[in-house]
Amino acid sequence: MYDIIIIGGGPAGLTAALYALRAEKSVLVLEKLGIGGQIALSSRVENFPGVKSISGFEFAENLATQVTDLGGQIEYEDVIGIRDGKTKTVITDSAEYEAKAVIIATGVKNRTLGAAGESELIGSGISFCAVCDGAFYRGKTVAVIGGGNTAVEDAEYLSNIAQKVYIIHRRDKFRAEERLVKKLEKCQNVEFLLSATVEKFCGDGKISGLDLVSTKDDSKWHIDVDGAFVAVGQIPQNDILKGLINLSDEGYVSSGEDCLTNIEGIFVAGDCRKKSIRQLTTAVGDGSVAALAACSFVDAG
Ligand code: NAP
Repeated sequence: MYDIIIIGGGPAGLTAALYALRAEKSVLVLEKLGIGGQIALSSRVENFPGVKSISGFEFAENLATQVTDLGGQIEYEDVIGIRDGKTKTVITDSAEYEAKAVIIATGVKNRTLGAAGESELIGSGISFCAVCDGAFYRGKTVAVIGGGNTAVEDAEYLSNIAQKVYIIHRRDKFRAEERLVKKLEKCQNVEFLLSATVEKFCGDGKISGLDLVSTKDDSKWHIDVDGAFVAVGQIPQNDILKGLINLSDEGYVSSGEDCLTNIEGIFVAGDCRKKSIRQLTTAVGDGSVAALAACSFVDAG
């Protein structure tokens, strides 16, 4: 029996682990894929207070090392359900674990556009991770679709590798931070295609281009590309919680800044929580709040 099981090994989950371990609780972190969640895929983190610049991967590794050095256990298993009783049972694809409290920090997954040809070409020229797949496009032409921080950062990252980068955004104003947009505007090989969406990902077995449509006047045109990076936000990964935890209409865990859920002893932290600002700083903030609440719950017996 663990004091606290944390579902998700991103910044929120690992911060929760850190705080719980420092409160001398026994902690198990269950992570489906790789440690660090979305931040591990971020090329540079430059907005975390006190850290001037660090790769997302290194940031995640440092956090995981802090957790394991304190005796935290991290297992790579897919959680498929939680049973609520006197204690909490967390069911994975290969085992069942008991805990006095559970913290959900399942994060979010990449949203797709739903355009024609997209599902067929994912992995054959369509990617969701510039840092992971950018190197395949050295000297080539790529497009990034989206207008948030991820899209703008991805486009800038790719501009150092690809010969030409298009950034395609459905509005004429970016959602991304102004500072990031200004930096991107300085990249000579980046062309901004604003007020445009992708109607079709073209290519037979491998992407060859994009059919675009204007959101202003319905005009259509085609661009040739060797690769496309879809960066249009995320959707929460809370399906396993349906029927147990109250979720918002969009599927985020309903909770306030106190990180409590409607179930006693189950807490939530990070991007999977209903909130207005999803940032690294708010994720780690949630992690500490959820952990301290879970520790109090465990101590109260
Ligand atoms: P995001 O901020 O939610 O932006 C998603 C973008 O995709 C928006 O520009 C949105 O357009 C567009 N979009 C959504 N659905 C679309 C569709 N069907 N067709 C076309 N465009 C669509 O997502 P994100 O950029 O992945 O960022 C997620 C969170 O992580 C944000 O809080 C962000 O600040 C944070 N983040 C931070 C950093 C950093 O600080 N270094 C790096 C990456 C991400 P509209 O603008 O028109 O809605």
